[in-house]
Amino acid sequence: MICMYDHMIAAVKIKGEYNGTELRKVPVPDISDDEVLVKVSRASICGTDIHIYKWNEWAADTMGIPIIYGHEFSGYVEKVGDKVKNIKKGDYVSAEGHVWCDDCYQCRTGRRHICPNMKSLGISRNGIFAEYAAIRDKNIWHNDESIKPEIASLQDPLGNAVQTVFAGNVAGKTVLITGAGPIGLMAVSVAKATGAGKIIVTEHANSYRLDIAKRLGADHTLLDNEDIVERVKELTDGNGVDVSLEFSGAMQALRTGLKSLTNGGKMVILGLYSSDIPFSDEDINDIVIRGISVEGITGRLIWDTWYQSNRLLKSGKLKLDELITDRFKFDDFHDGFRAALSGKAGKIIYSFD
Ligand code: NAD
Ligand code: ZN
Repeated sequence: MICMYDHMIAAVKIKGEYNGTELRKVPVPDISDDEVLVKVSRASICGTDIHIYKWNEWAADTMGIPIIYGHEFSGYVEKVGDKVKNIKKGDYVSAEGHVWCDDCYQCRTGRRHICPNMKSLGISRNGIFAEYAAIRDKNIWHNDESIKPEIASLQDPLGNAVQTVFAGNVAGKTVLITGAGPIGLMAVSVAKATGAGKIIVTEHANSYRLDIAKRLGADHTLLDNEDIVERVKELTDGNGVDVSLEFSGAMQALRTGLKSLTNGGKMVILGLYSSDIPFSDEDINDIVIRGISVEGITGRLIWDTWYQSNRLLKSGKLKLDELITDRFKFDDFHDGFRAALSGKAGKIIYSFD
């Protein structure tokens, strides 16, 4: 399909290096029959985008260039492909950033979020740090008009937090959250909103983020220079927590999370690790003998988690406004990443209007 539009501004990774992103004038993407063209309204920066911006080993190994990156957004449909049903110009939308295949064993058995053939918006195909983006129709999520565009742009990481907290089944339980990055902080708010009994949050030398955790509902915050396992025991009548939710991607926090669990407790892991994790036979035997369950979490359940997140947002119980620390015009793209890299930021939002 030939596009009526001409050019747009996009953040393009043009060189595989730290300073390799440029704001460029590029053609607006053409859409195929099963895609829609979305005019981006708000975009937010994800930890993955920071890896791409810095061009770390993971980015170099995983991605091709040039590429437009970014995947957290909200916007309005500008036009639809010839075979698209149920989406029309003007619709207020976001999208699931994982592009599943629909043909494999997992997709055919209701587990599209762990499709082994998964592609990702802004990683394996052009993303949304641009005025317009082409999105597969199946991936489109219709936003509720009551949810403002900057909050709607956060539904991807919010979905990570919701899936993790719900896997921990936290209502009435004591909960340890390790890592108060944006997703860990969202988890604090989700755990509070869904009735967690006591929420303890840990961070590594980042008391700024622990202050946000307190505002979102954490009962206790701990820096990792304390003996966390001991402190958690003190705060839980000597028992340890019922549930540990791991959002740091740090080996030390994973170990602390496991050791802080009461016998029969549950460990849910969203964090991704970039260094080797030496796990001894003692560590594994501890999990076995104490009857600990461990669950890994990827992305969002499609579309269960999106419905759950939507209802939580509409309940008014999530305090995501507290998490947005900086707002920039898209033209000031690099300022947004400077803020993200400062360590003194929650979520950073770009606006395109
Ligand atoms: P982030 O890097 O912004 O936050 C991690 C936080 O953990 C930081 O604030 C850091 O200071 C803190 N931390 C580091 N070491 C710690 C320690 N020993 N104890 C306590 N806190 C410590 O990351 P994010 O964007 O909030 O994402 C959280 C994690 O989830 C990352 O590991 C990310 O790679 C991963 N992730 C996984 C999925 C998935 O689908 N499984 C999706 C998105 C993100
Ligand atoms: Zn599949």
